Amino acid sequence: MAYIFVTGGIISGLGKGIVTASLLRILKSRGYKVTAIKIDPYVNVDAGTLRPTEHGEVWVTEEGGETDEDLGHYERFICESLTKDHNITTGKIYYSVIEKERRGEYLGKTVQLIPHITDEIKNCIKNVAKKTKSEIVLIEIGGIVGDYENIIFLEAARQLNREENVVFVHVSYVPIPNKLGEPKTKPTQQSVKLLRELGIQPDFIICRSRENLDEVRKQKISLFCDIPKENIIDDPDIETVYELPLIFEKQDLSKKILNKLNLSEKITNSLDLEQWEERTRILKQKDRIVKIGIVGKYIGTGNFKLADSYISVEEAVKHACAFLGYKPEIIWIDSTKIELNLPKIQGIIIPGGFGITGIEGKLKMIKYCRENNIPFLGLCLGLQLAIIEFARNVCGLKDANSTEIDENTKNPVIDILPEQREIIKNKKYGATMRLGVYPAVLKEGTRVYNLYKKFNLIKNNVIFERHRHRYELNPKYHKILQNNGMIFSGFSPDGKLVEFIELPNHKFFVATQAHPEFKSNLLNPSPLFYGFVESCLK
Ligand code: GLN
Repeated sequence: MAYIFVTGGIISGLGKGIVTASLLRILKSRGYKVTAIKIDPYVNVDAGTLRPTEHGEVWVTEEGGETDEDLGHYERFICESLTKDHNITTGKIYYSVIEKERRGEYLGKTVQLIPHITDEIKNCIKNVAKKTKSEIVLIEIGGIVGDYENIIFLEAARQLNREENVVFVHVSYVPIPNKLGEPKTKPTQQSVKLLRELGIQPDFIICRSRENLDEVRKQKISLFCDIPKENIIDDPDIETVYELPLIFEKQDLSKKILNKLNLSEKITNSLDLEQWEERTRILKQKDRIVKIGIVGKYIGTGNFKLADSYISVEEAVKHACAFLGYKPEIIWIDSTKIELNLPKIQGIIIPGGFGITGIEGKLKMIKYCRENNIPFLGLCLGLQLAIIEFARNVCGLKDANSTEIDENTKNPVIDILPEQREIIKNKKYGATMRLGVYPAVLKEGTRVYNLYKKFNLIKNNVIFERHRHRYELNPKYHKILQNNGMIFSGFSPDGKLVEFIELPNHKFFVATQAHPEFKSNLLNPSPLFYGFVESCLK
């Protein structure tokens, strides 16, 4: 068993998650069974209660974990599912240690940061390694070196280095200030110094910069940080994240890491990344473009745009587009400021969401798509709003609403599940939604059925998608919606919950209560996203 720790320096947002995901990709392609863990130093037990503009999208795992978005990057790059055990937070570690203390498991002992917290961290890491039978485990430590919050995790990493086969990869930033025009290595030197103060000597430095570094800068970093020059790896600005594994491989990074770990290259010739490379090439070209609008409320922080809140939706669009030979141009539309003049937008996606902000804007957009034959894909909240819009404007239920938006609506077309009502009454908000993978039975002959069939994902009419919601289409309104022309293309196996809807005589008007974006990757696009993009091209 070998471990690779990925740390970060200087600023956040350097793409450590993508670096870790790319390392996973190339090591897997070298024939190794790999997996990854994300450590988040915040006190929340999981990411379920975080606002997306604070910490990016909440990723949902198959078994229903609500985790950091980096697990999404890992899954997309290794094309395998992970579980919530692969996301460790400060809250989770302390929670578990405190529970043990109350159960008397440390009876007579003073429970301390070292060794009890660090032991708990190491055990969590080793358990994932054991459970997944992985040969190499990558552990990405959130935040940057020098933060208060992650020190105890770095200490655990230092200890593990004495017990196991460990390599340290440090992701650093080499700025090229505009007026100077010269790459500056001092911040990197200082962040490595900070790391060494904690007893960690990195084996590799990944240099995030505008461009590749020249020999002079590499020499400097090598000298000051005590790292062989060939282990200083370029990580320049790129157009699409899917290029990074290819860039790393050009620098022989998987071989160098395996070498450092004393592991052989199981696959010695060039890696089987042809399809990956081809789709990456499509995402870089500029001739075949499709313009897609995503309507959301978590679009910005302060004066800056921030798209990470919907990262999986954006990536799923890219996967479907690349499969069809196109590059998407994504237009972010703020649901609180909807204008219906949409020059050249070829289709609209309404992703998931919570609360009342921006709802009316989204409803306006759905009506516009429905009436003007513009491809529309609704995801979770997107389905719920498509129902509300249809109930109001086609079925004539003018005050139709979701009880999440208006508790006292006379026509609660979207309502909370009875078991969820209890949960909310008792204020048990953490990890209590309808979470994770659920089966749906699809109706033969529907558009949704045909799309899943095309990708061979349907068996006995059943498909599986991940979920994260509390509200549902109210069964009392099934009849009236159907009588007015809405098609329910998929139900939960007990026939109670509507999972997919579609409208006939429309270029593409499909919505699902699930989040198919969580199962999409570059090599296997999601059927619904594929169907949507294909219609946008018509
Ligand atoms: N807020 C809605 C619900 O809880 C939709 C959730 C979502 O879009 N993920 O059911």
